[in-house]
Amino acid sequence: MSDKTTYGFTTTILHNDRQKPIEQGSLHKPIHTSVAFGYGDARQLASVFQGKEPGFRYGRQGNPTVAALEDKISKMEGGVATLCFGTGMAAIGALAQALLKDGDHVVSSSFLFGNTNSLWNTVAGQGAEVSFVDATDVANVEAALQDNTRLVFVETIANPRTQIADLARIGQLCRERGILYVVDNTMTTPYLFRPKAVGAGLVVNSLTKSIGGHGMALGGALTDTGLFDWSAYPNIAPNFRKLAPAAQGMAQLRAKSLRDFGASLAPEAAHHIAVGAETLALRMERTSANALALATMLQADERVAAVHYPGLASHPQHALASELFRAYGSLFSFELKEGIDCFDYLNRLRIAIPASNLGDTRTLVIPVAHTIFFEMGPERRASMGIAESLIRVSVGIEDTDDLVEDFRSALS
Ligand SMILES: *Cc1c(COP(=O)(O)O)cnc(C)c1O
Repeated sequence: MSDKTTYGFTTTILHNDRQKPIEQGSLHKPIHTSVAFGYGDARQLASVFQGKEPGFRYGRQGNPTVAALEDKISKMEGGVATLCFGTGMAAIGALAQALLKDGDHVVSSSFLFGNTNSLWNTVAGQGAEVSFVDATDVANVEAALQDNTRLVFVETIANPRTQIADLARIGQLCRERGILYVVDNTMTTPYLFRPKAVGAGLVVNSLTKSIGGHGMALGGALTDTGLFDWSAYPNIAPNFRKLAPAAQGMAQLRAKSLRDFGASLAPEAAHHIAVGAETLALRMERTSANALALATMLQADERVAAVHYPGLASHPQHALASELFRAYGSLFSFELKEGIDCFDYLNRLRIAIPASNLGDTRTLVIPVAHTIFFEMGPERRASMGIAESLIRVSVGIEDTDDLVEDFRSALS
């Protein structure tokens, strides 16, 4: 395991903890619950605090178990550094918390995870300006840019309607304008897609979803790909300007959002997520194959009005998805024809569970307009292409035939 670049995704993740000194031969990074870290030499404590040597200060800013997970996520994303947070939302909130000031401007895709949409609206109420654009076309992003635009934020495959951002062209545009490009990779995961390949400076992952993969721990991450020039970012505080340019962004993010705001990931959760992540590639292969089988069956049935899945040739960005992603992912959504009530349909399913999570090993279903997108109201829903009967499916690793039969028989 000396030359990491020669190993594949799963080999690298499985053996990553062994690259550092092994504690009692433990094959998993142990769960370190200590909040404080003691030093035999008080001068060493001071030099850790001053950033002159590596080490842990206090659990809020970092912990060995969390650090081992951060290192794994950096390897998955091909990044230079990762910060973990208590949830995916905390990772996105850290962008606003640590990188934006009054009077700054953000361009965001309008096809967003519901809580991220709500977060940007909060940010907009606190002094920064946010423009929501249809990011499936780079021209809309370009038209929204202003002199004070600090970052452009997009998701890879939007939940629940599966629109795909014009990822590579937006990356090119941000590179030309020197703007920080942030890509939420939760729906694709670093196994299907690496945002670094299209020029992202920061990558967001909700670890709660497919990376943890079993719906048993909350977590989030921000990965610095090393592509963004932090020396050109206006909002770096003077004390972080003293650091090497490549380190400035993450140092400020760690200080402002973990140290000052306390959005830290617990070591027990980091352990669950790290164990789950070992099978990420296997699960993504299986869930992507299951999702394609289900979407294909539903699309062919006359009782179904529409199916939204990037793996279908009918999807507007099918060609783009084929070019960028290793497979089409575990999420799709569909609309029933009038005459079939979406609640009755969901109640007839025997395997799929009505629940609000994604990327679990079990298949989960939710009536979107009546739950996660209820609060935003019918107009904003319509603008996001959310039909009132839309059902979102997060496909699990169950046996394909069982799932197809479950979704088929519930139609009648
Ligand atoms: C779930 C999700 C988040 C938020 O993650 P949590 O861990 O639930 O806070 C952010 N972005 C996307 C695309 C998500 O699906």
